[in-house]
Amino acid sequence: MFGASVTAVGRADTRQVLAAKVRLLVDGISIDESFYVPAQGYKGRVEAIYGHHIGAPPTQVIPQELILHRPGGLGPTEAHVVQVRFNADSPHLLSWHDGSPVLIVDGTPWPVELIPAPNFYDLEVEPGTNVRSITQLLGTSLLGVVPSNYCALFSTKEECSFCEIIPHYSLAREFKRSIKPDDIQIKAINQALATDPLEYMVFTTGNYDLPNMLTVDHYVNVRSKLKVPDTVRRSYACLMPPDDVNALHRLKEAGFTSVILDIEIWNPDHYEAMVPGKAHWLGREGFLRMLDASIGVFGSGEVYSNLVYGIQSLCGVPDGSRFNGRDETDMCLTATDGLLARGVVPLFTVYHTAGHSKIGKVELDPAELTRFAEEYGSRVFHSKVIRDDRNAAIFGLGSIANHFYNDAYYMAKTSNAASAAKTTEAGR
Ligand code: SF4
Repeated sequence: MFGASVTAVGRADTRQVLAAKVRLLVDGISIDESFYVPAQGYKGRVEAIYGHHIGAPPTQVIPQELILHRPGGLGPTEAHVVQVRFNADSPHLLSWHDGSPVLIVDGTPWPVELIPAPNFYDLEVEPGTNVRSITQLLGTSLLGVVPSNYCALFSTKEECSFCEIIPHYSLAREFKRSIKPDDIQIKAINQALATDPLEYMVFTTGNYDLPNMLTVDHYVNVRSKLKVPDTVRRSYACLMPPDDVNALHRLKEAGFTSVILDIEIWNPDHYEAMVPGKAHWLGREGFLRMLDASIGVFGSGEVYSNLVYGIQSLCGVPDGSRFNGRDETDMCLTATDGLLARGVVPLFTVYHTAGHSKIGKVELDPAELTRFAEEYGSRVFHSKVIRDDRNAAIFGLGSIANHFYNDAYYMAKTSNAASAAKTTEAGR
C-alpha cells in the first residue's frame, strides 16, 4: 500500500518532525484495532490521570508513545517522541505495514517505533500492587513519580482553572489510594532503578497541604532513601513551594539536582482568576522570589518554571472560546523572555482537557503553535541558560512526549551548528 515513500519520510529533518509533532498533539491519533492487544512488548498507556486522550478515555491498552525520529550521532535514548493522544476522529492513523508500525500523518506514511515496556513493569512492590502503579517510564529514559493525585487546593475550591487532576483521576486510577505511602514509593522506585538503566527522575504531585511544607517533607523523605545508580544524571523536584528558602536547601541536600516551580500564568493581572490557590498561598511574586532563590541553591540551568500554552490569551476569564492563537504565541514569548532574563528555563505545557476543567475546550492553532515552538527553541538556545553539552531543555531528548520544548531546543541547537559550519566553510 505505501511503497517506497515509507522510508522517504523516515529521513525527516528536525523542522519536519517538530511540525508533525505539533499536529499530532493538537489533533490526536487514531489507532488501528490490531493495537488493542495488550502484552505485545510495547509500553502501553498507564498515565490515565493526565487525560491525554481526546473525547473519551480509550477502552483498550494502546501504545503510550511513538518514536518519530532518531537524529544521527546521539545516544540510544535520544529521539523525538510523541504522546499518543487517542482520538478516534483524528486524520492521523497508527497502523502496521509489513509487520512494522507506521503512522499515516495527513495521508503520508511515517515509519515509527514503539517503545518497549521496561522490565520493572512486570514487578510487584507487594502482593497485588504493581511497581508501575507507583512509578512509570516516561518516554525512553525518564522515571516519573506522582506521590499524590490529591491536591489540597481542591479542598478550598482554589484549584487552578485548567486542572482536572482529581475529577479525572477518580475515573481511572491504578493505585487505589490518592496519596501513595512513602515506604511503598521508596520500595517501588528502588526496584525500578535497580532493574532498568534509567537516566532521569522527576517527582511531581498535587499539593499535600496548603502552605505546602508537607510536600517538601515527603519529597525529602523519599528521595533521601533511594539507591540511585550512576546512570541517573539528574533528579527533579516539581512542586508548588512553601514560601521558605530553607525548603530549597532541604530538597538539594536530599539529592534533587533541579527544581521545577510552575508559575503557569505570566500576566500579573490574570493571575488570581486563573490560578486562585497559587495566588492566595504564594502569589506570582512569591513564585518569582522562590525561582530567584532556587538559582542560588541549584545553579543556573537547573531551575525551571512551567506555563500553560493555550490559556494565556483568555486574559483571566476561564473560558476556552476566548483563545486567540496569535496573542497566545506573543504572550508566551513575552513569558519566555521574562523567565530567561532571570536565568530560569521556561517550559510550556500544551493545554488539553479530558472535559473536566473550568476552561473547557480550546481550539489550538497548529500554525501558531509551530511558530511559538520554533521561536521558543531559538530564544532558549541563544540565551545560553542551558549548558552546551545538553541536547534538550529538560531531561533527555526522548523523555517528554506530550510537549514540544525539547524538540524545539534541539532544532535550534542543530540549526545553529549547521549555520556555524556553513560560515566556516564559506570563510575558507
Ligand atoms: S497546584 Fe493547581 S495544577 Fe497543580 S494539582 Fe493543584 S490545582 Fe492542579
